[in-house]
Amino acid sequence: MKVLRKIIEINEDLCDGCGVCVPACEEGAIQIIDGKARVVAEKYCDGLGACLGECPQGAITIIERVAEDFDPEAVEEYLQNLESSGPAVETLACGCPSTQMQSFKTASACQEANQPPNQTAAHSALGHWPVQIKLIPPHAPFLQHADLLILADCAAVAYAGLHQELLKDRVVMMGCPKFDDVEEYVERFSEIFKKNDVNSITTVIMEVPCCSGLPMMVKNGLEAAGKSLPIKKIVIGTNGKRLKEETI
Ligand code: SF4
Ligand code: SF4
Repeated sequence: MKVLRKIIEINEDLCDGCGVCVPACEEGAIQIIDGKARVVAEKYCDGLGACLGECPQGAITIIERVAEDFDPEAVEEYLQNLESSGPAVETLACGCPSTQMQSFKTASACQEANQPPNQTAAHSALGHWPVQIKLIPPHAPFLQHADLLILADCAAVAYAGLHQELLKDRVVMMGCPKFDDVEEYVERFSEIFKKNDVNSITTVIMEVPCCSGLPMMVKNGLEAAGKSLPIKKIVIGTNGKRLKEETI
């Protein structure tokens, strides 16, 4: 049914197809098609504009016009279909698949044991994409019942045992508590914890003071979602050593 209502409008001339707005839309209403962000169906857009502030080009506005009415049931069905059909298929115009959601199988312990030593060492334990906190939408299918590994950017570089000891069978979310937006992170974590029953949370930070805020952001997100879960905190030294482990 068509009604007069608010809905987003994307200015094609301004849009560079970066894809930042795609995960910002929890309804999955925006996809990158032929290099531009497009509303895949009017009925999936609630017109509230969660994507608005995310667009670095200012390409998204909210207008009032006659459009198909927002249909929350159709959205739910659409998101379930997306989840069961696996990875999203669109690649961004620039060729960067930074927001293309994917889950993939990692090698079993048996497969790893049968690989030559040089290949075993190089094996990636990453089981999904994207990995940045800002790019993982709360409805990402791999978040449900996940064992979360919330990782400070620098710790990923500093800790050599990351893949073998920490990443395997976990869903990783990376970010920098010094340079990124704290409020945005707390809000993102809160949405994730509201929408998903997470099994466990492990945070990995550097020993430097600027990194210590990350576990607190996760804790605040949990509290904002009305949930409670122990948070394991692992501290990595600037020399790459695992220095401390505690639960908060
Ligand atoms: S965030 Fe803005 S520029 Fe990037 S794809 Fe979306 S509408 Fe286009
Ligand atoms: S807070 Fe500091 S140490 Fe931690 S990820 Fe950011 S820059 Fe690196």
